[in-house]
Amino acid sequence: MTMRAITSLYDFFEVFPDEQAAIDHLRAIRWKDGAFCPYCNSKRVMHFSDKKTHKCHDCRQRFSIKVGTIFADTKLPLRKWFATIWLITSHKKGIASTQLAKDLKITQKSAWFVLHRLRHAARTKSFNRPLEGTVELDETLIGGKESNKHKKKRNKLAGGRVGKTVVFGMLERGGELRAKSISNLQTRMVRGRVLDNVKKGARLMTDDAPVYKSLHGMYPVGSVNHSAGEYVKDINCHINTLEGAWSLFKRQVYGIHHHVSAKHLDAYLGEMCYRYNRRAMGEGDRVNDLLGRVEGRLTYKVLTHGKTANQV
Ligand SMILES: [Zn+2]
Repeated sequence: MTMRAITSLYDFFEVFPDEQAAIDHLRAIRWKDGAFCPYCNSKRVMHFSDKKTHKCHDCRQRFSIKVGTIFADTKLPLRKWFATIWLITSHKKGIASTQLAKDLKITQKSAWFVLHRLRHAARTKSFNRPLEGTVELDETLIGGKESNKHKKKRNKLAGGRVGKTVVFGMLERGGELRAKSISNLQTRMVRGRVLDNVKKGARLMTDDAPVYKSLHGMYPVGSVNHSAGEYVKDINCHINTLEGAWSLFKRQVYGIHHHVSAKHLDAYLGEMCYRYNRRAMGEGDRVNDLLGRVEGRLTYKVLTHGKTANQV
């Protein structure tokens, strides 16, 4: 069986019967252009006969294939990491840390950390190509009531909608979805995001919220008059695709995680966009795609105290 043929967790463990199979697979992906030293980038790498230790000919450091990746500094076997990657990329709504802890026999704390490291790996690095064609724009509110919180701690940014965070999204029809939280839904913020992400000449689809008015001189805009109940004016004039993505995200947040803090919201959005943008890929290919993005580290301290990778 090959990676490509994997359609279940059972298949997955057939492809990776032991830890060495997972190590070999990660080596094949990470070192597809040849082995390199994670400390000095030298290509002069010596391989030990245990098939897991390597040594740099130049800086003399010893290392495993995990050094320099999100898998470094964890005792979790690579097979459990790979199984988590399968779960997070193949389940439409992702997986909760409590569920993962049970499934993999690990603590909930380490399950939470594993999932966040994978979200870190999945974060969108795709802002190299502007969205084009027909691009749907929309915003939504995420978060629960915070009426119990002290007034000062409530999120005032959602324009009086206490405890909610505004999320703004852009979706190229038949193409990529980009969504991130936005500190406030002001014309200037929205216009900046659109100009940064959408090619001139693309046709925008919006509802009739006032924030989109300023885009009318810059792009051709088709707008859907929600307040009058006209969801579809002409057959192409709608933001239904993006609204479908919002509903998927809400099922992920409220159905799987129950609550997502504003601090980590963009990480969860990144996870959703990642899956959404790879929905046409096979399940094995999605695992390999994420395995191709594991360079770099994310420490527990940065995750809990620092800015998260997705914050802008
Ligand atoms: Zn070296």
